Amino acid sequence: MAEVCFMEDKLELKLKEHSHRRFNPLTKEWVLVSPHRTQRPWQGAVEAASSDQRPKYDPSCHLCPGNQRAGGVRNPRYESTFVFENDFAALKQDGPCGRVDLNGKGLMVAESEQGICRVMCFSPRHDLTLSSMSVEEIGKVVRTWVDQTQELRSTPGFSHVQIFENRGEMMGASNPHPHCQIWATSSIPQAPSRELQSQSEYRVKTGSCLLCDYAAVESIEKERLVCSNDGFVALVPFWALWPFEILLYSRRHWGSVAELNAVEVAALSAILKQVVSTYDRLFNTFFPYSMGFHQSPFDGQPHPEWHFHVHFYPPLLRSATVRKFMVGFEMLGTPQRDITPELAAEKLRAIVPVEQP
Ligand SMILES: [Zn+2]
Ligand SMILES: [Zn+2]
Ligand SMILES: [Zn+2]
Repeated sequence: MAEVCFMEDKLELKLKEHSHRRFNPLTKEWVLVSPHRTQRPWQGAVEAASSDQRPKYDPSCHLCPGNQRAGGVRNPRYESTFVFENDFAALKQDGPCGRVDLNGKGLMVAESEQGICRVMCFSPRHDLTLSSMSVEEIGKVVRTWVDQTQELRSTPGFSHVQIFENRGEMMGASNPHPHCQIWATSSIPQAPSRELQSQSEYRVKTGSCLLCDYAAVESIEKERLVCSNDGFVALVPFWALWPFEILLYSRRHWGSVAELNAVEVAALSAILKQVVSTYDRLFNTFFPYSMGFHQSPFDGQPHPEWHFHVHFYPPLLRSATVRKFMVGFEMLGTPQRDITPELAAEKLRAIVPVEQP
């Protein structure tokens, strides 16, 4: 970028003091950072803290073992993880294939989309979460993700598997029973599609991997590090948009959980527990977030450019009740944050619990 300076005395840009914008090389989007606004008084709404006093079994829960779901089907008395097809799936596996361009000018284009939408309960226990389950129990969850990914990758007609968890009412999770969703889609969804293009272009230009190179810089600076183990690193990325956003990536370059070895299954389980426990300690609450895996597509092409990673997007800003909103300039212009990613990482790093089995 050309250096532009209209001031007579050139000021040095200090990322901890001056407003600036940061570039996200994965999405090619910018985020405004306004460190000087951190002391601004808060006059907005205060939301009630959500209580996580939950029973081990809830007779009214659609996901608990033996209970009837909203669609009328009864769950088996499962004892570990449990996967089923969503009774109200957003996508169907069958249906017409095609693409239309209504006026031939590319202004009103539509394409068919097929998919499989599954729900996966992490545990029969209604009251557990990734922070309160043992690493061994989370290991069963991770192995189910591996099995599901392998199975869906070999199902004809699909090119991507999205594993994601919505946690907490604030993120629209309709049921507190610990669960995630697994969607296989015929097309590569928008966010991973953009990241695919960025990683691919970076590889063509430099001959190396975007996230491997980013990880190398972060391993020296450590300013944004939250926690790490032999297999994985969790940090607040330089370009983080949400106040306490975390990017979790594998140390080794691989594309999909389908390629995980046994040691890495254990390492991923341990760091997931550590990250979610850290979040829960931050504001002493059942921390809401949307978490999702970004793994290599299987559209018939090799994807050596893809580096497996997990995004955590939590909405909370400064307490269990004060959340960030993406409105106004953020919706119409550029997303903005006040607390710097470095300060967010420092706050999180200070409360990472010691790893326990
Ligand atoms: Zn339940
Ligand atoms: Zn890599
Ligand atoms: Zn991603």
